[in-house]
Amino acid sequence: MTDIQTFQVRTSRREELVNITRQVREAIGASGATGGVAYVYCPHTTGAITIQEAADPDVARDIDAMLTRLVPLRGDYRHAEGNSDAHIKSALVGSSQVLFVADGQPVLGTWQGVFFCEFDGPRTRKVMVKVLEG
Ligand code: ZN
Repeated sequence: MTDIQTFQVRTSRREELVNITRQVREAIGASGATGGVAYVYCPHTTGAITIQEAADPDVARDIDAMLTRLVPLRGDYRHAEGNSDAHIKSALVGSSQVLFVADGQPVLGTWQGVFFCEFDGPRTRKVMVKVLEG
């Protein structure tokens, strides 16, 4: 069992997918674990974690743009804070991902990267990584 590794992500727009693959690799490396599974989790209700194509930045842009079409900023929402769209997007994408770890590295496909999804930025966000060895 390893400690929880935590790092921060500074976002620069209201909606944005930020590639955090490097930070996730570093957190897994810092855990000292060589194999097992890594949970990547964000403790936020208007952010999310996804695994997606990292080679072409237009993929992240397209996901962001289509999520905003599916869940517009203004709608039949009651939440007084005015950011219900961000909460709904967070619910759709999810607050965590699980990665396999082998040889001290996350096992990712050629085109895959790990992204923090900002839906109500810009803000400084927290991402947590916990490796379960085995
Ligand atoms: Zn809210």
